[in-house]
Amino acid sequence: MLSWDDEATPAAPAPKPTATPELQARLQTQDIALSPALVSKPAAADETARRVNAADKRIINGQTDVNQLVPFKYKWAWDKYLAGCANHWMPQEINMQRDIELWKSPNGLSEDERRLVKRNLGFFVTADSLAANNIVLGTYRHITAPECRQYLLRQAFEEAIHTHAYQYIVESLGLDEGEIFNAYNEVESIRDKDQFLIPFIDVLTNPEFKTGTTEADQTLLRSLIVFACLMEGLFFYVGFTQILALGRQNKMMGAAEQYQYILRDESMHCNFGIDLINTIKMENPHLWTPEFRDEIKSLFLRAVELEYRYAEDTMPRGVLGLNAPMFKGYLRFIANRRAQQIGLETLFPQEENPFPWMSEMIDLKKERNFFETRVIEYQTGGALSWE
Ligand code: FE
Repeated sequence: MLSWDDEATPAAPAPKPTATPELQARLQTQDIALSPALVSKPAAADETARRVNAADKRIINGQTDVNQLVPFKYKWAWDKYLAGCANHWMPQEINMQRDIELWKSPNGLSEDERRLVKRNLGFFVTADSLAANNIVLGTYRHITAPECRQYLLRQAFEEAIHTHAYQYIVESLGLDEGEIFNAYNEVESIRDKDQFLIPFIDVLTNPEFKTGTTEADQTLLRSLIVFACLMEGLFFYVGFTQILALGRQNKMMGAAEQYQYILRDESMHCNFGIDLINTIKMENPHLWTPEFRDEIKSLFLRAVELEYRYAEDTMPRGVLGLNAPMFKGYLRFIANRRAQQIGLETLFPQEENPFPWMSEMIDLKKERNFFETRVIEYQTGGALSWE
């Protein structure tokens, strides 16, 4: 709720002038220096030369001023920034009471369902920190289009909200924090996924790394593809499907609702990443060599294998009408889609989506919540008071 308390609060007395005569003299000089006549004088030619021409902007290795957001060239990035803001949500808006009761009730969930929830959170609690570090300490520095930087700033905050959401679920359920937050060191199927990703993040966060050569630009492009298509675009999907499948059976509804919002954000991150990759390809066609494409394809195959092993580990037996082999088809279906989105040929011909209901989840509209537990209309601002 917004409250404007300035009318109720008596106005603070105006500060008494304390400037010494010398300081007053200096302030006066500054006043003269900033007088309108001087400020409005025509800019010198070398100053106007620094004005940005949209046509000169580049996603990487650009020479234009990164502080000048407009004139827009990459309108798609600005539009995604606006869409991300319109989708804003916070974890604590979601009531976890029913989840807590179910989790605490001895017969509320099967052992397999509990294992699935813990392994699921075990991956996600650290995954979005890796994603945030990748953006803030790595990718952001190498992107020279301010529209894209603006989206990356929004995305970084969303990664923080996701880490917050997983922490909120862990805390609500009273899970062993040490076990869950360390799973990426202690659980092999999670560790293997992260160890696959980390070299692609480390290369961008290395302060010595700079773009500008074909080799370095390919290194950046490779990391962007791994991050958008394989991390956010593939490694998240077994986990999302599992928790949303619980929600579809009226279990862990609060957690499932949060995962739905996270899925919506992540599908936008993935789409932004794909637009970024395709625009870099368009601006730098020499990077997209047959050898580079082959290398990317083998990374896709490796990622599908790792994610499938994670599916087997989280679901050693069938659970919730799901089992690991169903995910093999799903992962191949998603990998095909990601490959096509960046202009690679289909990797696994004729795979169909075994979980068509997941597409509806991704298309969630803000006004309509799939689980219908609450009406969602995010209100900006908390209590605002003027002291
Ligand atoms: Fe993300």
